[in-house]
Amino acid sequence: MTRTKIALVGIGKIALDQHVPAIHASPDWELAATVSRNGQVPGVQAFTDFAAFLAERPDVPVVSLCMPPVPRFAYAEAALLAGRHLMLEKPPGATLAEVHALEAQAKAKGVTLYATWHSRMAHAVAPAKAWLKDKSIRKAHITWREDVRKWHPGQDWVFQPGGMGVFDPGINALSILTEILPQPVHMTTARLDFPKNRQTPIAAQLTFSGNVTADFDWRQEGPQTWDIEIETEKSHLALRMGGNMLEIDGKPVAGESSIMGEYPALYARMADLVRRKASDVDLSPMVHVADALTLGERLTTDAFDF
Ligand code: NAP
Repeated sequence: MTRTKIALVGIGKIALDQHVPAIHASPDWELAATVSRNGQVPGVQAFTDFAAFLAERPDVPVVSLCMPPVPRFAYAEAALLAGRHLMLEKPPGATLAEVHALEAQAKAKGVTLYATWHSRMAHAVAPAKAWLKDKSIRKAHITWREDVRKWHPGQDWVFQPGGMGVFDPGINALSILTEILPQPVHMTTARLDFPKNRQTPIAAQLTFSGNVTADFDWRQEGPQTWDIEIETEKSHLALRMGGNMLEIDGKPVAGESSIMGEYPALYARMADLVRRKASDVDLSPMVHVADALTLGERLTTDAFDF
């Protein structure tokens, strides 16, 4: 099978940890170029300027953007205007309106736009969705507690405007919640903890309609927790390890204790979308983040430094 050429833009932590291995292992893709001011991938043509890449490599029809959300729009718009199919890391943009604009541009150009949510590809998310399909939900709780120093070492952008703070990981939980619940929910209250020297929250307590709550915290040392627990009329579902393991009534029933299936599944889906000339842009996880920042009570906490 012929592999489609793809360019990866923003060669940093997630590009090197996940995107490059997933592309190299895929039967669908050939990593034909990178664009990054500092990063490179050995053996792959490296550009530092996106316009130069677009001008010099018209043979690369697909672009995958891996930089943080705030600088992403200019690259996304340029890629679409140049008629390239486009894949976006999560969250798909810094604002909802800019992603709506990208959707319209992709449609006008007749190219694929895929706003990825890697956690939706976790091993146990599809089985959890199938199990919940005909259930009535009494209560749900998300616990997403991790150590920002471990997962985002020195990445100041997460605490700058548009970096989303604890919603950068929290949106992964929301991407799973919005995928598996049989009925949508909406936010009713939010409490956001902002370090006194930072622009984005380091913790959030959220309440949604339907008796759904969430606890996001980026100050968790020791064991890390990425769990969603749901009580139905007769049973208790638990998704653990960021959606990779499914337990029903305390017994493991599906999944794998590995996060390494998520990015290969994203790239397989992108290949399918391009083949079908389709797009996939679901902004529901980001709507909840925007609502939390609109509705949230703001508390000031201790200064936080890496
Ligand atoms: P990162 O390492 O801080 O940034 C990725 C790369 O983006 C940088 O190496 C930089 O490359 C480029 N970049 C940064 N600021 C830029 C700017 N102003 N203009 C142009 N390029 C810029 O971030 P990351 O952890 O990979 O995260 C990137 C995205 O992936 C985020 O949306 C994040 O939510 C998502 N993500 C991250 C993780 C994770 O574990 N870190 C997991 C899943 C998803 P150059 O300096 O070489 O240009």
